[in-house]
Amino acid sequence: MIKINDKYFDTFIDKNRILSEVAQLATFLNSDYKSQEVIFISVLNGSFMFTSDLMKNIDLDCEVSFIKVKSYSGTSSTGDVNEIIGLTSSITNKHVVILEDIVDSGLTLDKIKKLITKENPKSLKTCALMFKPEAFKGEFKPEYIGFSIANEFVVGFGMDYNEKGRNLEDIYLLNKEANQVKTKSPSLVEIN
Ligand code: 5GP
Repeated sequence: MIKINDKYFDTFIDKNRILSEVAQLATFLNSDYKSQEVIFISVLNGSFMFTSDLMKNIDLDCEVSFIKVKSYSGTSSTGDVNEIIGLTSSITNKHVVILEDIVDSGLTLDKIKKLITKENPKSLKTCALMFKPEAFKGEFKPEYIGFSIANEFVVGFGMDYNEKGRNLEDIYLLNKEANQVKTKSPSLVEIN
């Protein structure tokens, strides 16, 4: 168990499993976009680690661009997505793949897809490392999904809890019981 700020988290998906799933996603993309030019648009901050490891396995004629939006505060989605910052490359008539760390309500992705569609890309798909089917209420489901998980809060591999924990190479799950009773585990590691 680890503690980040005031919350306890358990190891959920270890780095080897993450990296093999990311490599698998790259295999699908390499095959589906074979001989085509692709622009990957990575949604910061959470997707930086996913993007980095995915790109190491991508064997396509591609560009990688980064955008920023925000809809999460603490451990719950506000659904209030602000403007997209950083959409600078020309994507008109290009194949575009959005890279998301995690799709929860899907509202962020809806907003991003609608804004990007205005630029008339040749095609527009989404590759998400994680997806929460029970929480999803969006219009556009990701076409490529690494892990489908329950409606729980996760942290690590780029994903944060109040900006902490992004550097963790494994993915951790919020431990609801430990957070209720606030017990201390002997194997506890604190990140403050
Ligand atoms: P949505 O708009 O789909 O509800 O939320 C999308 C964004 O919220 C993600 O890109 C991510 O930044 C954040 N998010 C959603 N679920 C989680 C989660 O379980 N853990 C963390 N750390 N961030 C999440």
